Amino acid sequence: MNFQYWHPQMEKMDRTELQAFQLGSLRKTLSGALKTDFYGRRLAEAGIAGADSVKSLDDIKRIPFTTKEDLRSAFPYGMLAVSREDVLRLHASSGTTGVPTTIYFNRNDIASWTGLVARSIFSTGCDSRDVFQNMITYGLFTGGLGFHYGAEEIGMFVIPSGSGNTSRQFRMMQDFGTTVVHATPSFLLHVESRMSEEGVARDSISLKRAFAGAEPYSEDTRRRIEELLRIDVFNSYGLSEMNGPGVAFECQCKNGMHLWEDAFLAEIIDPDTLETLPDGESGELVLTTLLREAMPVLRYRTRDITAFYTEPCPCGRVHRRIRRIKGRSDDMLIINGVNVFPSQIEDVVMGIKEAGNNYLIVVEKDGFLDRLTVKTEVSAGIFKDDDARPLNALRENIRRTLQNSITVNPRVELVESNSLPVSEGKAKRVLDKRPKDI
Ligand code: AMP
Ligand code: ZN
Repeated sequence: MNFQYWHPQMEKMDRTELQAFQLGSLRKTLSGALKTDFYGRRLAEAGIAGADSVKSLDDIKRIPFTTKEDLRSAFPYGMLAVSREDVLRLHASSGTTGVPTTIYFNRNDIASWTGLVARSIFSTGCDSRDVFQNMITYGLFTGGLGFHYGAEEIGMFVIPSGSGNTSRQFRMMQDFGTTVVHATPSFLLHVESRMSEEGVARDSISLKRAFAGAEPYSEDTRRRIEELLRIDVFNSYGLSEMNGPGVAFECQCKNGMHLWEDAFLAEIIDPDTLETLPDGESGELVLTTLLREAMPVLRYRTRDITAFYTEPCPCGRVHRRIRRIKGRSDDMLIINGVNVFPSQIEDVVMGIKEAGNNYLIVVEKDGFLDRLTVKTEVSAGIFKDDDARPLNALRENIRRTLQNSITVNPRVELVESNSLPVSEGKAKRVLDKRPKDI
């Protein structure tokens, strides 16, 4: 295989050099963090008065973890380390209730993020001759602009098609000779099935590669997309708290995702004991930003379960690879790429006085896409009425309020009270019927 490197020096330096770079960056990050209201207090409580108190990478263990709740508690500017005039852009995590998780970027942050995405894309074998169609949501979600900037940096011809509009997507592929796409794995399967339905010949498009991420999928699903579309599929991992895409990405070898360790200091912990686990063991990924200036985040608990591969990759990159994300250590659902917490749904249902106390969240596949149904109990009286209007109005009210809160459009089913299963002990309110292999 012919390997190519966007930033050879950063990608192929030796481990000792990388660790020295990480330590220097960690200290800089700490100095920045200490300027923020949130970390100023947090680090003082942990006895970390200045960046000098971190003498080795191992000292990171003295720094307290940061959680999503911390990010919310610091909203809007409690974690901002630069002046507001220096902020260039914000992004927010998908599926947040009430208080969003907001991330700020200054000019250097946008540049370093763009560099990481460019490096990721380039490592799959793409170059400036490629035509890239970004079939993912633009806007606050990081997958749109993040990939867009990275692909432009390489000099690719970029089509910001956004998600949805399936028939138009493959028409654009035909019109512009798209060679690479970025999408969720479910959307890729959906596009393929619509192409078959509409009799679009595979040979009428020039697609060679796809970057698939934003939601978990299995190796079998990857293979299925590859066979159906006759392309190479590369796994892409990121989260808005760590910029978005460009945290970990598969290279041409497609054997796990290189986590860019010059930009993120990674640890794997046991989510129960919070102890750091040795390389190779499966646990929760914890990440510290090393390059971010506007909003440094220290020891962020991603809740994503993975493990490091211990053997080096044939491509020669120093950055260790993580395994496909196996699941989460919390109850977050990912519905068509959007993060949804069951508690958000509960907040909405409980906030509507006509809705009963019991509800059930059902997630299943409709074709290749996810479908969310919220079954809500309502008092029996409402069903007896000959007039269906109050029932329809209530259903629509719940649907609209839910959609505003979680951004996913759910189906709402109203059922009679006491008709949903009542479990003893901890209520089981989520029924995820999606097969593990989509
Ligand atoms: P967001 O902050 O909205 O970008 O969502 C980030 C979350 O999406 C991560 O914490 C993961 O749970 C999930 N995610 C992103 N990429 C992948 C991937 N390639 N495989 C599995 N889960 C992913
Ligand atoms: Zn590699």
